[in-house]
Amino acid sequence: MQSVVIIGGGVSGLTAAWHLRSEAEVTVVEAGPRPGGILRSGTVAGVPVDDGAEAMLALRPEAVDLAKAVGLGDDLVTPTRAPVTMWTRGTLRALPAGHVMGIPTDLAALRDTGLLSPEGLARLAREEELPAAPLDGDTSVGAYLTDRLGWEAVDRLVEPLLGGVYAGRADRISLRAALPGVADIAARGGSLLAALRSRKPSGAGAPPAVMQGLRGGLARLPHALADTCGVRVLTGTRVRELRRTATGWQVALSGSSRRGLEADAVILAAPAYAAAPLLRPHAPAAARELSAIEHASMALVTLAFERAQLPGVPRGNGFLVPPVEGKAVKAATFLTNKWQWLAEAAPGTFILRASVGRLGEESLLGREDGELAAVCLAELSEILGPLGRPLDFHVSRWARGLPQYSVGHLDRVRTIRDAVAGLPGLEVCGAAYEGVGIAACVAGARDAALRTLGRTAGSGL
Ligand SMILES: Cc1cc2nc3c(=O)[nH]c(=O)nc-3n(C[C@H](O)[C@H](O)[C@H](O)COP(=O)(O)OP(=O)(O)OC[C@H]3O[C@@H](n4cnc5c(N)ncnc54)[C@H](O)[C@@H]3O)c2cc1C
Repeated sequence: MQSVVIIGGGVSGLTAAWHLRSEAEVTVVEAGPRPGGILRSGTVAGVPVDDGAEAMLALRPEAVDLAKAVGLGDDLVTPTRAPVTMWTRGTLRALPAGHVMGIPTDLAALRDTGLLSPEGLARLAREEELPAAPLDGDTSVGAYLTDRLGWEAVDRLVEPLLGGVYAGRADRISLRAALPGVADIAARGGSLLAALRSRKPSGAGAPPAVMQGLRGGLARLPHALADTCGVRVLTGTRVRELRRTATGWQVALSGSSRRGLEADAVILAAPAYAAAPLLRPHAPAAARELSAIEHASMALVTLAFERAQLPGVPRGNGFLVPPVEGKAVKAATFLTNKWQWLAEAAPGTFILRASVGRLGEESLLGREDGELAAVCLAELSEILGPLGRPLDFHVSRWARGLPQYSVGHLDRVRTIRDAVAGLPGLEVCGAAYEGVGIAACVAGARDAALRTLGRTAGSGL
């Protein structure tokens, strides 16, 4: 049986370990005090809440199937259905259904919402008359969509949704990496809105759930993975160097008390900025590209209120705030409304969480927890009406939490993969490559495990 060391015990590393569990002797090395990476739980007012990621994409199967495989199938839950809502132009306004990452397809319905000014709407309505040569190569989401839809639609509709995924900026994010379907339309040329409208409807009945969570919180997933795969997980241990040996790899660990590990193969499932120095001596081109990936930092501020003391309980699942509004809060999620299990777990409490910070807007993150919570509370009260004093609050900080897929990201990943392919017994996976979401990380980790076993991606384990 071959020995495999997996560097990084986030959902990517643990997924790879799970797939290898019966075919290799696996050790996961995790720098932090517990496995899970960005899937972590905390408590507010005594109630367990997700501190990081809280929902996984259900439109693609990988993450949901994995949750079922590790025994969490009965605890999969679908969020309450509610329209995407923006706080913009002075009030909360719901985005009409049928949009693609904020790109509207029903302009009449959009007009009724007041999301855009009359000038912004008129500019959007001209999209179908504009000349559109086929796009060659990559460009930013912002550049392509501003040309097609006008800046107001990008600022007020697309930017906040894109920010919800990447905490990034439309003028930097790659169209091909972030919106491949839109990039395909752009490559053909012609009207974007006409092309989006002509897509086949997804069939009769209620549309499928887009996202799913877990009763008790998504942070249960990495624990279930670690428990069911039964491999060795070394927490509080940082990998500081990788050395080639005659038969595989030697993995040097931090701390003088620990000896290095010898392995036939290594899977590097750490974030780009941590993977780069480990790869530098062996694959300098990969290290260079990984170092060039920017990361956004953010904080999540979870506030708990006594339900009976609220002048009015907010409705819906929360709202997004377009950065152009100049607020610190970029999004607020009404956790109690969104997740039925949470409402049942704490019926007298109303819990919401605000997210703060995005690429280039990180100065606020230097404030202490109490100050950050006060800033959020003041803005939320302005938007929702006075909320009073919270029972409790909790701040989780995610420094360099989200890699940015900037223009040319797909070429960058190809360069990294080509360079790593020249290193026998070494694979990379994680949020830096083919998708930042959990489902994409799970798929990438499964493929890395398959390659480690000498099988091709997609052949199943
Ligand atoms: C605040 C926030 C909310 C999010 N919400 C969602 C969501 O709701 N849905 C969704 O699909 N996605 C969400 N995402 C994205 C998603 O959670 C992450 O992209 C994904 O969890 C990344 O998993 P990973 O295992 O690749 O990386 P990580 O979770 O970052 O794990 C990497 C691990 O490697 C360890 N490590 C680093 N260096 C070393 C070293 N030298 N030696 C040993 N270990 C090392 C780190 O300690 C870390 O635990 C969110 C991201 C953030 C930041």
